[in-house]
Amino acid sequence: MRIGIPRALFYYQYFPFWKNFFEQLGLEVVLSSPTNKEILKQGLEFCVDDACLPIKIFHGHVADLIGKVDMIYIPRIISIEPKEYICPKFLGLPDMIRNSISNIPHIVDTELNLYKGKNHILDHILNLGKILNIHQTRILFAYFKAIKAQRQFEKLMIEKFVTPQDIIDKRLTFIENQTFKKRRNNIKVLLLGHNYNIYDDYISMGLIRKLRKHNIDLITCEMVTKSQIKEGNKKLSKDLFWTLGKKTTGTAYYFLEHKKVDGIIHVASFGCGPDSLVGELIEKRAKLEYKIPFLYLNLDEHAGEAGFDTRLEAFLDVLEGRKHIEDNISTYG
Ligand code: SF4
Repeated sequence: MRIGIPRALFYYQYFPFWKNFFEQLGLEVVLSSPTNKEILKQGLEFCVDDACLPIKIFHGHVADLIGKVDMIYIPRIISIEPKEYICPKFLGLPDMIRNSISNIPHIVDTELNLYKGKNHILDHILNLGKILNIHQTRILFAYFKAIKAQRQFEKLMIEKFVTPQDIIDKRLTFIENQTFKKRRNNIKVLLLGHNYNIYDDYISMGLIRKLRKHNIDLITCEMVTKSQIKEGNKKLSKDLFWTLGKKTTGTAYYFLEHKKVDGIIHVASFGCGPDSLVGELIEKRAKLEYKIPFLYLNLDEHAGEAGFDTRLEAFLDVLEGRKHIEDNISTYG
């Protein structure tokens, strides 16, 4: 039995868990192709016009799996942290897909709602077991294996400052050698944005590759501990209740407060309400209070790479210029 996983949205967050879980149950996990022109084209064709780019791309990935799998896993995600919610588009995703794409394989759309506590993950996996007709004992065994793999994945990102894709593609040694041992200019950039935007090489127009080419030390929300994020969020006058925004503000405020970065890049999706609010909060604080250069990059299906590159190069020039001045000012005045 083949189960399809679209290489989009929470693939960048939970793939080690999903892969280990389903493989332990004897299923073959099939991923859609990396995002490409055809996937984007299909996403635009199938999805409603007013959706954000990541949701459109997700439609393209589902279309890419047609004919390759027996079922597609599209969980109905409501909450991934206690007392918090995520964007409602995740909740409606299985219905959007069913109503927009015809002739799709069976969709496994079990609800995931951890609002009342992390242990509700068991509801999710036991319901999956019922759908797949697999005994509870096997399901629990697969769950423990999968959660171990997921924890290891999260720990590696924090300890080694690597991206999800570095780990999934097993590029760890290469990246460590390239980026962290041979760095020359030691400029640190905080790269903010949803993981499904910044780690998707096609959507982000190779942003991480380009930054690494410039020997930039990169920090993303996935490389930060929960306690650092919590500490950062104490700077907010009111707690945000959606998880992805909270992760972004907490990371940004933590690094601003500890003056640990030379610049911030915020990658947002056109049409994303949470992104615009969170981006505004961080930009104001970075520029007014901490005088840290801030670059806002908005992604949509029409974004041109030439303009994107020009803005990025100009931003990096500013950072390099500031670093040069800092490094050459005499401490004696
Ligand atoms: S948080 Fe924003 S980018 Fe993500 S799915 Fe929701 S609207 Fe789209």
